Amino acid sequence: MSQDERIGKATFTRRDALKFAGAAGVMAALPWSGLPEADAAAPVLKGPQAGGFYRFTIGEIEAIVISDGGLSFQPIQPTWAPEASKEELDGILRSAFLPTDRLTLEVNTLLLKIGGELVLVDTGAGGLFGPTLGKQRERLSAAGVQPGQVTAVVITHAHGDHFGGLLDSAGKPVFPNASYFASKTEVDYWTGPDPDMSKLRLPEENKKVFAANAKRYLGAIKDRLTPVSAGQKILPGMEVLSAPGHTPGHIALLVSSGKEALLNSADTVHHHVLMFAHPEWTSAFDSDPTMGAKTRRKLLDRAATDGLRVLGYHLPFPGIGHVRTAKGGGFKWIPEPWNWTS
Ligand SMILES: [Zn+2]
Repeated sequence: MSQDERIGKATFTRRDALKFAGAAGVMAALPWSGLPEADAAAPVLKGPQAGGFYRFTIGEIEAIVISDGGLSFQPIQPTWAPEASKEELDGILRSAFLPTDRLTLEVNTLLLKIGGELVLVDTGAGGLFGPTLGKQRERLSAAGVQPGQVTAVVITHAHGDHFGGLLDSAGKPVFPNASYFASKTEVDYWTGPDPDMSKLRLPEENKKVFAANAKRYLGAIKDRLTPVSAGQKILPGMEVLSAPGHTPGHIALLVSSGKEALLNSADTVHHHVLMFAHPEWTSAFDSDPTMGAKTRRKLLDRAATDGLRVLGYHLPFPGIGHVRTAKGGGFKWIPEPWNWTS
């Protein structure tokens, strides 16, 4: 082996490149050929992710998934899948090429234009969950939408990562012209005197914060809040589906126009691998884990049987795809490729 061969790529010089290209003309086409050999000021590539939004349609309905950001949980257990043995959990994560020490969830809020209404489904975390979340407002703006133009906001359930964007840092409503919708069961539960949080597997301190935030945020919009129930249409083409368990009044939404439909599953299924493979695996954030698992299986079954297009709030951005049944009684998430022409 020659000295040059041993050195290899690490010392591949401009002279070597010329030799390789065989002609100065070819060299001129190389992107770095005009740069000094050393000391080119390379930009810093590390930093926060940019994230963004994704436009699509449901029949006549124009839609945008607005990413609020993402959040990692470390360690995974006991917050997620406490029922799983460590070996089985690690095995499933490894088989999906995912790290075994953390679980990353995204936050996909949805904006719909139905007739003359601009409807937002969930508002992200606002300032409640730290710097990797709370991006909805700036991304709405990047998509050309100002908060004052939003005419309706649907809150699928009263957890901070869904309602945190309702209020700004001064406690003022971010969407001043909107009407608000949430399930009657959910509103009654959180605004009642003593919400039963006995099945939540969280420290008592966290439960208190959950309850206090829900009361505060729901309280701030109560004058313009319409409680809704399963089967009700919030707007033409937007039907409320009961999906209890994650919270008592957790709802999903079936959005349809013409022959097309989208099932906004909200927090029925939090992770694109774990809870599809094992719908019986739950989360410490579930108000009633057993009921949550039952709801998850029912909704995933329906999505798989009917071939429904699904949006998952916490699935990898933009969180749109389909569900199919899998060996062993579970399901598989099939993400939809981006459509660059819509
Ligand atoms: Zn959530």
